[in-house]
This record gives sequence, C-alpha cells and structure tokens, in this order.
Amino acid sequence: MRNIVAGMLLLMKEKLCELSPAHDKELLIKKEILPEQLADGTVVFKGRGKKTVDVLQIEERLSSLNVVVDWKRLNEITKLRNDLEHYYTDRSPDAVREIVAKSFLILRDFAVSALDEDPIELFGVDCWSALLETNDVYAAEEKACHESIQKINWKYSTVEDALKELRCPACHSSLIESTNETDTYPDIGLRCKSCSHDFQFEEVIEECISDLLSGAAHHAIKDGGDSPYGKCPHCFKDTYIFEENCCVACEDELEFTECIRCETSLGLDDQFNDGLCGYCQYVYEKSMDD
Ligand SMILES: [Zn+2]
Ligand SMILES: [Zn+2]
Ligand SMILES: [Zn+2]
Repeated sequence: MRNIVAGMLLLMKEKLCELSPAHDKELLIKKEILPEQLADGTVVFKGRGKKTVDVLQIEERLSSLNVVVDWKRLNEITKLRNDLEHYYTDRSPDAVREIVAKSFLILRDFAVSALDEDPIELFGVDCWSALLETNDVYAAEEKACHESIQKINWKYSTVEDALKELRCPACHSSLIESTNETDTYPDIGLRCKSCSHDFQFEEVIEECISDLLSGAAHHAIKDGGDSPYGKCPHCFKDTYIFEENCCVACEDELEFTECIRCETSLGLDDQFNDGLCGYCQYVYEKSMDD
C-alpha cells in the first residue's frame, strides 16, 4: 500500500523532471527553487538543497503546468493511506484494495495522458494485471454495497451526501452494506464487507457529517459566515444541520426559534433560556436582582 502510493508520486516526479528546463533536469522536483543571476545578466531558477517536493507541491507544480490529474482522488488516496496507518488490521484487506483500485485509475490516466506510455509496457504484464484484477474485485464489491445502501430511505439529503464518507469504525473500509432494507431512519444496521463488523449508523453519523461538512464549515467561519452544522442541544452530537432545520441524529428540531420577548431569531446556543435571547435573558436576570 505504501509502495503503491509512493510509486504513484514517483511517476509524477518523473513528469516534473521531464518538464524541467534543459540546464537542470531535476529543477522542478526540488523543494526549494531560487532565482539566480548569471554572468550575462539573465536570471535562471536553481534548485537548492537535497529535499524534493511533497504531495502539495507536486499538485501545485503539475497543475500550474496544465498536467491533468484527478487531484481530489489523489488526496483521498493519501488521506486514506495515512488513516490506514492508524486503523490497519490484518482483517482489512478491502481498505487496502480500495487504495489499490483508486490508485490504479490515477496510474492508468497518468501513464497514458501525462507520460504518453502504454501502462502495460510501463508496469509489466504481471504488475498491471494484478492492479487490474484488484480494481475489478473492488469495483464489483463497491457496486453491491452501493446498491444495498441505496435501498434505505435516508430521509435527509445531507445524510445522503454524507454516505460517501461512510466507513467501518473497526477497519476503515468503505465497503459497507445495510443489513436490513426495511430498517427505518435513523436506526439502520450496517455491516462491513471487509471485516464483517456489525454496527449501527448512529455510531458513525457524527464522523460522516464532520467529514462531509468540516471543510465547508472551516471556510464559512474564516469568511465571517456561519458553519452549516453545529452541536445539537438535545443529543449533544455535532449533527444539527441548519439546512435540514433539525438534528439528523436524534431528529430533534429547535424548541425555540425566536425570542418570545423581542422576536430575535434564536440559534443552537440560545436554547437554554426558556425562549429568551441572550440579551433578554440578561435583562430578565437583572430585573430579578433589583
Ligand atoms: Zn471493517
Ligand atoms: Zn440531536
Ligand atoms: Zn430577546
């Protein structure tokens, strides 16, 4: 698994070497690049030190040179590899298979479109057919899981979106099937096809929502806006979705939506003052003191 990811990055570095200028064919894989003035006054870039580019720089440089790669998928693979370092057990072959399958797609496209190579020639028949087979097995299992998950009524579009983040809490595989298609939301039984671990959707809902929305929340808050989700005042999970007007874990709605005194709209943090906003609560408490 590590070798495949490392090998994939190596191919991308190869492309960077190919695109490097003639005076230094390793320039673009150097982590640090500095401008230097030659005797005749022209400015050229030189690499400094022995360190080579990291994943982020590979993406930056290849994108800037118009080399097309499915970066979203690549980032998913590197994240998965890092996660697996923590989660990996010998019972999670499918999580590894997933990395192989997803890498396979990138390798194939990169070999053909960026390196102009025939992948079978580049990797050799044995290696390539192993990748191909793993991809086929994984793709078939993924399809079966997807179909069983689709039979459930997930009720909320946010939850439907979040299902792509669904992973086994024991082995981190994404091959998850539902155990009973008549289960009703949110009591849904799930089983990992990779390690046979049975679990309830309830156990993973917070992580699914956070994986789906934490990036958007981070950006929204940075721009002075509001997070699309927050902590439910009823079940205390981070699963209250503003767009759904409810918590997707306990399905509770806000008890108080506007202040009973001044009609200001009330949010998640204003649910503990019996329907008063923070200001009116303050005024009320002060009047009690007098
Ligand atoms: Zn599992
Ligand atoms: Zn809740
Ligand atoms: Zn008020």
